[in-house]
Amino acid sequence: MAGLYLHIPFCKQACHYCNFHFSTSLKMKDEMVAAILRELALQKDYLEGEPLETIYFGGGTPSLLGQHDLDLIFGEIFKHYPVSAQPLEVTLEANPDDLNSLKINELKQTPVNRLSIGIQSFSEEDLRFMNRAHNATEALTCIQNAQQAGFENLSADLIYGSPTTSHEQWAANLAQVFALKIPHLSSYCLTVEPKTALAHMIKKGTARPVDDEHAARQFEFLMEKTAAAGYEHYEISNLALPGHYSRHNTSYWQGKKYLGIGPSAHSFNGLSRQWNVANNAAYIRSLQAGELSFEMETLTPVQRYNEYVMTGLRTVWGCNLLKIKELGFDAHFTEGAKVFLADGSMERDGDVFRLTPAGRFLADGIAAELFAE
Ligand code: SF4
Repeated sequence: MAGLYLHIPFCKQACHYCNFHFSTSLKMKDEMVAAILRELALQKDYLEGEPLETIYFGGGTPSLLGQHDLDLIFGEIFKHYPVSAQPLEVTLEANPDDLNSLKINELKQTPVNRLSIGIQSFSEEDLRFMNRAHNATEALTCIQNAQQAGFENLSADLIYGSPTTSHEQWAANLAQVFALKIPHLSSYCLTVEPKTALAHMIKKGTARPVDDEHAARQFEFLMEKTAAAGYEHYEISNLALPGHYSRHNTSYWQGKKYLGIGPSAHSFNGLSRQWNVANNAAYIRSLQAGELSFEMETLTPVQRYNEYVMTGLRTVWGCNLLKIKELGFDAHFTEGAKVFLADGSMERDGDVFRLTPAGRFLADGIAAELFAE
């Protein structure tokens, strides 16, 4: 079983905190779709015939694709890639300002059966601070429209830790998700990435910095409130009602193969990782010439161990000592884990080591302590 990811590198406007690969000019959209079709054909053997169980349109803003674009892409996928017998999970990331009734009904005519919606907040002040293209009314109505059209498998993205998000507003955002019965939530801390508009604004003093304690309190609140509402915290940034885990992202965390199509997209075949050129014009040019443009690295045992620790500790499945033993790092791992077992940030259940709620906010730092060199 394998996954297919398609990166759609266009956005209406740049959110202040974002460092993903995208362009705000849609001039090359048709050429980009044509290049994606070519890459799908050229990469048809990458997954060695393993059937697809998930397809994920990410970005950028995939909801900027029209129905015709999606029809072309799905036609090419189903021409070249076998699909698994169980129903495919087909997710499309969408922004609230795109999801009017017309758009949602168009999407209903495609194989898309899961929408991951970039809500981020239901507060006008937060949305303006982040420079999102939608407003608070659209954040609410797009979900109601999607549900009325029959999209039940929805995920909402919410950002916490913004200096504009009071604890009361954060509570209100979560309460809104519960009231709307959205079964999946992806929740990220506002991170100040280098070279973003947000980093520049903080440096200039025109935006307040992100406060770690403020963010940590909101993360604790996220864990408390979602647990009380019946959500399972199955990955640091992902929470779901039972039966609504993202199958696509779960397959990443469980080390399954996936193929990434589009500029900057990553692929993994179990042994090596490769990533496409992160430049729209260069990507299109190379595909027009019938060539793929990517870099590749074969993972060493140390890299495979470090990646396993990094992703495993973020999930409810934790890190399994038998798997770590296969990679040859069991003594290193158990020695390093002692301090975290002692301070209560980690727990052990047989061969499985996982983080406790207290350890989750520190997941990346704990993983880094356990890395091998
Ligand atoms: S819509 Fe998403 S990808 Fe586009 S700029 Fe905003 S956060 Fe980044």
